[in-house]
Amino acid sequence: MTTTVTAARRAQVDEHHFLKADDGVALTLIHVRGAAAPTKPPVLLVHGAGMRAESFRPPAIRSLVDALLEDGWDVWLFNWRGSTDLDAVPWTLDDVARYDHPAAVRYIVAQTGATSIKAIAHCQGSTSLSMAVVAGLVPEIDTVVSNGVSLHPVVPRFSKVKLHALRPLFQSGQPYVDVAWGDGPEKGVHLVTRSMVRLWHVECSNPACNMASFALGSGHPAIWRHRNLDRETHAWLATEFGKIPLALYAQIAKSERAGQLVAFQPTEGMPVRYASAAPQSTARFALFTGSENHAFLPQSQQATHAYLEKHQPGRHTVHVIPDYGHADVFVGHRAHLDVFPSMLEELNREA
Ligand SMILES: [Zn+2]
Repeated sequence: MTTTVTAARRAQVDEHHFLKADDGVALTLIHVRGAAAPTKPPVLLVHGAGMRAESFRPPAIRSLVDALLEDGWDVWLFNWRGSTDLDAVPWTLDDVARYDHPAAVRYIVAQTGATSIKAIAHCQGSTSLSMAVVAGLVPEIDTVVSNGVSLHPVVPRFSKVKLHALRPLFQSGQPYVDVAWGDGPEKGVHLVTRSMVRLWHVECSNPACNMASFALGSGHPAIWRHRNLDRETHAWLATEFGKIPLALYAQIAKSERAGQLVAFQPTEGMPVRYASAAPQSTARFALFTGSENHAFLPQSQQATHAYLEKHQPGRHTVHVIPDYGHADVFVGHRAHLDVFPSMLEELNREA
């Protein structure tokens, strides 16, 4: 199937920036130029685990990038170390929080001369960014729009079974779960996993959709509602997912048990529990999720909202979008009507 590319997407000009994380890992930023020069501050877009910067730009529909550019924002898409567009390296949320987000924020501030910036983050981009914010590592960020989960991972019961029971099986020799398993010539455990997943996920015939359900949540499908995706975007998503390190599953399992994000390993100068002390930041959070999120339940964002409001009452908001799941909040064909206006409103509010 040839993919339709909207006129708005065709008009965008990308500038690729290469930078290093604070521990030397190579990262990239895509600075997107629209038809008109920006009139508002920079916005950093942070993708989820096993995804990439480009995941925010489904080509066939009106994307969040289109909406941000038209509203005058200066858009920067980030490929942090978990991006499928970069060479795969092992990572934990601590690495991303400590080394990637601060480097990207400093880079954008240096390039633009902005005194403060905004961020929109999805899933594990959001957990790691929230960790960096509450640890006081990115003081330049004054507003965070986060989706799905921030500091309190609450997962469906079947995901707990997967996190706690299946994970050690994989740990026998696989450093990653790869949503793209079975797309290449590899055999063995990769093909067996994918074949089993396809038997279990009979809701559609898109192997990546089935694997994403297996790797990232519980449900048929798990991370979007089919009714929220148009055919082209459902097909396009097949190439938007890749490797997810097992260390991440271990960290989420540990955090889920602790009731809040915890460090993978204690590191000097970094919190062990990320929501025990008051946030070392005045950034305002607008926490989004879908009412039908089967990757992280809506209680995840509600718990983070309660934590933030306990320390900074009246400052933060939570938006539960009816009839949306996890990633369709960004890639749904009606997200530009149902979701993006609320996100823009939050960005446009006084920080
Ligand atoms: Zn599907």
